[in-house]
Amino acid sequence: MSNIPLNYPFKDEKLLLLSCCAPCSVEIIKRLADNKIDTTVLFYNPNIHPKLEYIHRKNQNKEICEKYGIDFIDLDYNPKDWFKLVEGLEKEPEKGARCAKCFDYRLVRTAEYALENGFNVISSTLAASRWKDLKQVEGLASEIENRYPTLKYWYLDLRKKGAQAERLDLVKENNLYEQNYCGCIYSKLNQK
Ligand code: SF4
Repeated sequence: MSNIPLNYPFKDEKLLLLSCCAPCSVEIIKRLADNKIDTTVLFYNPNIHPKLEYIHRKNQNKEICEKYGIDFIDLDYNPKDWFKLVEGLEKEPEKGARCAKCFDYRLVRTAEYALENGFNVISSTLAASRWKDLKQVEGLASEIENRYPTLKYWYLDLRKKGAQAERLDLVKENNLYEQNYCGCIYSKLNQK
């Protein structure tokens, strides 16, 4: 059982959680399972390249969900659409305009899936890493709430209250592969 409080404010409402990868989501997946929150993880990450890397991250995320008894939904991999989306933003740094478009694209798909499948609450692990801008993700989430008024976004800070230390312990315990770039080819190239 996790020692970190959950503070899920939508008691009895099921949650759809967009997950970017197992290392970022393992702690919150375990915490949700420990607290018996009816959760489904959605894997929708057409930003991840190359395809082998995508498959590896997806399979690992699925295994973690199976381990903790959480449902896992695997949505289509449509990298061509994603590349089109970020055209002209290839050289943007992380936390910049390309990331904003990438986050929004995945959050919108999550919102649409939620509405089509009877979820009222969504959230994401998009800002779990310290390389990401929590405020940027929260701003986009707030726009999603405005765009889809029947949906609620659970604002979740995965870097607070010991969650990061717990996450690292779980990464080790589950022998998870920790990638050294966010996901898109540009995040890899711009590192050099
Ligand atoms: S760095 Fe990450 S969040 Fe930003 S565009 Fe690339 S994959 Fe998306």
